[in-house]
Amino acid sequence: MNAGIAAAISGVFGLAVGSFLNVVIWRVPRKQSVVRPPSHCPSCDTPISPRDNVPLLSWLLLRGRCRYCGTHISGRYPLVELFTGAMFAVVGARFSSDGVVFAMLVLTASLIALSAIDLEHMLLPNRIIYPTVAIGLPLFVLGAALEHDWTALGRAAAGALIAFVVFYVIWFAAPRAMGYGDVRLAALLGFAAAYLGWPVLGLALFLPFVLGSVGGIAIAAPIVLFPMAIGGALGYATGVSVVSRLSGGATVADPTQARIIVALGAAILLGSVVYLALAAMRRVERGRHIPFGPYLAAGALLAILIHGPV
Ligand SMILES: [Zn+2]
Repeated sequence: MNAGIAAAISGVFGLAVGSFLNVVIWRVPRKQSVVRPPSHCPSCDTPISPRDNVPLLSWLLLRGRCRYCGTHISGRYPLVELFTGAMFAVVGARFSSDGVVFAMLVLTASLIALSAIDLEHMLLPNRIIYPTVAIGLPLFVLGAALEHDWTALGRAAAGALIAFVVFYVIWFAAPRAMGYGDVRLAALLGFAAAYLGWPVLGLALFLPFVLGSVGGIAIAAPIVLFPMAIGGALGYATGVSVVSRLSGGATVADPTQARIIVALGAAILLGSVVYLALAAMRRVERGRHIPFGPYLAAGALLAILIHGPV
């Protein structure tokens, strides 16, 4: 299918899915059913009629208030719908010619719900992880069947095991850094990433820690983001000549790759120097951190989206 058409269809579909994710994000951590009762205003309990339940539009038309009692309705609802729609458009376009597109969309929806719940409650509920496996696994099998690529499934199973072992060891060594839910989620993401190829699995295991470090630094000492940005820009500008010089004047095969690698290195180097200086002067806030789940989800999804054609 044409990527633009796929983006449009999955984007609109994603808005509706986002509306359902709002229900999941609110009810699952509160141990309520996601199907009963139907949506109602949290303040006056009036059931929400279908015309007031149109994703994004209803919230905008009602200017963020309940039609009956006028209570303010959080901007988080349209935001989740918009974000889900946008992510579905990107994933739908990226996998528009791949049988695994439905599995990836289910994964995307699940990751959005899990990240939102983890941010608020420090929890990655099994009530979301297990249904994702139950719905996603047959869809991966369907994808493999459509592509006649059964080795991908074997690789995916091995990837799930590898990711599980890696994160189990980290969890065992540093239980305060992450919860056991992260270990389960890593196995799920390892499956999806390795389905696409070993390099994607490597990236999916590595990127969450890069995002986590940048996020952790940004929360503890936001000022460090400036030297990181400067280092990144300098590295990107000079990447080709740096790599050429380091390799004894040879021509650089992949200029973009060289730029990205040097930019990352320079950003981390400059950022660490400033961070360590601030830490030595005790200008760094300690103890505040956000859960690892959103980093894990974002890093793995990024790895899945940037992988080359397999
Ligand atoms: Zn109301």
